[in-house]
Amino acid sequence: MGITTSASDKICKYKQYKLDANKKIHQLIDEAYQIFKSYLYGKNLNFENEQVDFKTEKNIFTFREQSFEHLISKQINKPHVRIYDKNRIVHIPYIETILNQCCNESCENLKIFRDDKYICVWCEMIDFLIVLSKREKKGYLLLTAYPITYPNKRKTLKKTYMKNNNV
Ligand SMILES: [Zn+2]
Repeated sequence: MGITTSASDKICKYKQYKLDANKKIHQLIDEAYQIFKSYLYGKNLNFENEQVDFKTEKNIFTFREQSFEHLISKQINKPHVRIYDKNRIVHIPYIETILNQCCNESCENLKIFRDDKYICVWCEMIDFLIVLSKREKKGYLLLTAYPITYPNKRKTLKKTYMKNNNV
């Protein structure tokens, strides 16, 4: 009997927890920020055995790192305007799941590819994308990370992955 696997049979076996979306947004931002600080100051995120860092420049209104403000918000139609997005906020724990678990323990749903100068790390099952850039000396900078919510984006990612990996 042949073994067939389709995307729907697959699971990502690593720890998957989201923050509780029933909570109020300011409480979720606080919780997500604690997790972000553990990433930033705990220096516990890695990719290909090198540390993953964030830009540490602070936002002048919130006094939190711009990189965090970016992670928890999304662009709306107006240029240069971002609004807080609950869905992005509750997914902040997935950054660690993907970098430290899916990547290090070869999750079968993991797709890693280079897109121009960026490195995209996507666990297709968790459906969360992390974009890194290589730092000049050592390590990586996390540029952005977000859950994939549009089928078109998923399609584009898949296409780029196949093209860049000659699948
Ligand atoms: Zn995974």
